[in-house]
Amino acid sequence: MSNHPEKHPEEQLSAYLDGELGEEDRMLVESHLKECPECRMLVDELLSNQHLLLSAFESMSPREDLEASVAAHISKEAHPLPVVKRTLSFALSAISFFAVIGLVLGALYIKMFAGAVKLMKPLLFLSTHLIAEMPLLMGVVILFSVTALTLSAVSLLRLLRTTTS
Ligand SMILES: [Zn+2]
Repeated sequence: MSNHPEKHPEEQLSAYLDGELGEEDRMLVESHLKECPECRMLVDELLSNQHLLLSAFESMSPREDLEASVAAHISKEAHPLPVVKRTLSFALSAISFFAVIGLVLGALYIKMFAGAVKLMKPLLFLSTHLIAEMPLLMGVVILFSVTALTLSAVSLLRLLRTTTS
């Protein structure tokens, strides 16, 4: 038993994973895998590639699958009415249309939200700044209103004096 077998059954690994090997070859590959970490890594890689491919394929064509399976289901259940089929495909395309619109709107909304957050930051900073300088601001406002009040009182008094005399 050697730790590093000379011949790696690299070409047979994917066939092994697909279950396409004969009993003898399968046993050979399995016993090789038990002793060869390199080939085990290769198998892991092949498996993860297979999973990636499968999931990519599934995410690429879920609608066709759905349509086909629904159509198959209907034709199995009863005689498929062309109107039903047409309505179904219309509904499916409407659903995918709205899904696309929803996705686009969602993306836009997320962008807008990010923009709003960007805008909010300086506003928030400004408002906290204003609140921090509130006593000064309030003082200015009070000063202005007091001046305005005295000015109007003075002019009212003057008006009263001119009308009485
Ligand atoms: Zn090997």
